[in-house]
Amino acid sequence: MILGRQGSGKGTQSLRIADAYGCVHVSTGDVLRAAVSEGTELGLKAAAVMESGGLVSDEIMNGIVAERLAKPDIGERGVLLDGFPRTADQADALERILTDLGHSLSLAINLDVPVDEVTDRMMARGRSDDTEEAIRRRLQLYEEQTAPLLDWFEERDLLATIDGLGSEGVVFERLRAVIAKCVA
Ligand code: ADP
Repeated sequence: MILGRQGSGKGTQSLRIADAYGCVHVSTGDVLRAAVSEGTELGLKAAAVMESGGLVSDEIMNGIVAERLAKPDIGERGVLLDGFPRTADQADALERILTDLGHSLSLAINLDVPVDEVTDRMMARGRSDDTEEAIRRRLQLYEEQTAPLLDWFEERDLLATIDGLGSEGVVFERLRAVIAKCVA
């Protein structure tokens, strides 16, 4: 799985990793955005929360991920989780979900980009949920809820922190180097 501040480039790098290694890319942000644009029940629940920069409830997110990871392509190709887990409750749920399925986590990548840089990047990309207030709230929630997970992964000896500053290609090469160690 990959984690990092919003705007760290983890979405872009995740696509490159999935492409290079042939694994399934599961982005919880993409799942939620698809639900919003399709107007499903999930989408209706998630839209306002996402717009304000909040986090969709753990219960909903854990359910989405449990359902997705149970599909056969995950066992066949492996998976890169992008945007999940984001809270301690989600990390515990992930451990249970993987154990139940007979899978395990091999690596947690922390794509590290400082707050000032991600703020500039998000202001520049202009996504509809990238208002100044929503950006501030998401970064605050990241520090409060998601950053503590770094210790959780570190305790399990799964964490690799990658410097996310530099060109897309340079960052990708750094990612390949840590993935190579783990899949070797
Ligand atoms: P970003 O990294 O910029 O927040 P994402 O695409 O990962 O973008 O997520 C967009 C939004 O979807 C988040 O701001 C949040 O509201 C919601 N979301 C995505 N993943 C989760 C999650 N694991 N738990 C709670 N909410 C989530």
